[in-house]
Amino acid sequence: MLRVAVVGSGPSGVYSAQSLVQQDPAVRVDVLDRLPCPYGLVRYGVAPDHEKIKSLQNTLRTVLEHDRVRFLGGLEVGPAGLPAGRLRELYHAVVYCVGAATDRRLGIPGEELRGSWSATEFVSWYSAHPDTAAALADGFLSGTRTAVVIGVGNVAVDVTRMLARGVTELSPTDMPQAALSALAASEVSEVHMVGRRGPSQARFTTKELRELGALPDTRVTVDRAELELDPGYADPSALPGAQRRNVEVLRGWADAAPGDAARHRLRLRFFLRPVALLPDASGGDRVGAVRFERTAPDGRGGVTGTGRYEEVEAQLVLRSVGYRGVPLEGLPFDTGRGTVPHLAGRVLREGAVAPGEYVAGWIKRGPTGVIGTNRPCAKETVTSLLADAPGLVRRELPGDPLDALRAEGHAPVDWSGWQAIEKAEAELGASLGRSVVKLSDWPSLLAAARSGTV
Ligand code: NAP
Repeated sequence: MLRVAVVGSGPSGVYSAQSLVQQDPAVRVDVLDRLPCPYGLVRYGVAPDHEKIKSLQNTLRTVLEHDRVRFLGGLEVGPAGLPAGRLRELYHAVVYCVGAATDRRLGIPGEELRGSWSATEFVSWYSAHPDTAAALADGFLSGTRTAVVIGVGNVAVDVTRMLARGVTELSPTDMPQAALSALAASEVSEVHMVGRRGPSQARFTTKELRELGALPDTRVTVDRAELELDPGYADPSALPGAQRRNVEVLRGWADAAPGDAARHRLRLRFFLRPVALLPDASGGDRVGAVRFERTAPDGRGGVTGTGRYEEVEAQLVLRSVGYRGVPLEGLPFDTGRGTVPHLAGRVLREGAVAPGEYVAGWIKRGPTGVIGTNRPCAKETVTSLLADAPGLVRRELPGDPLDALRAEGHAPVDWSGWQAIEKAEAELGASLGRSVVKLSDWPSLLAAARSGTV
């Protein structure tokens, strides 16, 4: 019987487990996660107000409740927890589905000023990730009137939208109470979302873009002259469908009559490349503005600098310029791409296939695509794994890996432990007069989990 460990319980990990049990009637799969909670970015990345996408957790749940699948949470693979070498001894095969764990940097002066955060940190805060930076505690939004979001991908749209949401829309979500209170009390009235290239090169999807225009008490503005710098703007008909639809939405906003005054104004800006974050006038270490260089299209999809500069006031800067994979102990890593080199999901060591080691999801293909993209990606990896299985199962295993893990002092959070966390979150919500409210710190999560782990 083939035994497989899947490392990571986000969409790529769960789809890998699903593909394995669907294609092999005997395989047993353990899905490991560093956190005591499953679902990866569906729990800790999808914005709380995107309830429909969040409900995908129900689909992922049925996989983790399959009788040949086990969830083993709170188990970190790596030198600080379970060494990768030991994991490979306990299972015939390991599929790494660890995503892209960090954010890309801008590499410009002032990035470290107070009030400058990566979008990933901000998302972690409102998603109740237990590793959220302590500095993102109560009060970090106070005094913020204007925010700049750098980047025009879907994460940029998410954080922009969250800054404009009101308490009525946020309180039915599962966001932690502290984040809800901070956003409810926020005085942010203006958010600039800024792209370094043109509107036809923006990475957001049209559905997400349109949602900005539908926010209550919010006005979206664009600068027609800026949009017109893009050759695709005047005649979008030759653009690929997704880009054409984005440009059409932006054209609609450019043509619209100025609306009534609203509590929030979202300004979508283009052809501005960030060159520095500037401290505020107090001379301290707080951000006060972002300095941009105006760019112009270079005719090949890129931009060139024009030597003209513009400053945009901001007490909060969210750098939303993409995620990046991090190297894993014991695995090869392509530092340029931020991924593990592979051939159809089989890990490549110095160009040769390493039997028994596989990757799926963002650590395999980089941080692109929507959640559904992980399904075919996982399937490809599992097809490779199952083709290798006859050779892999010849190696005799020491027994049930969970027994070995426990004997070696590991105490993973099992499915009943996770269910106890869910129960605690429902109780917390009820005590606050809300629906489910997420626990946001390690001690609370572990205490809840231990009350349920068998
Ligand atoms: P992304 O789609 O790769 O967008 C990154 C943005 O950052 C781009 O606008 C990029 O501009 C810009 N950028 C990169 N380096 C920059 C620099 N040095 N200076 C200024 N701008 C820079 O990344 P993401 O928004 O983090 O999203 C990651 C993935 O998750 C995407 O596939 C996304 O669709 C997905 N996602 C989906 C949803 C949803 O479906 N609702 C929600 C969130 C995330 P250039 O194009 O010029 O490089």
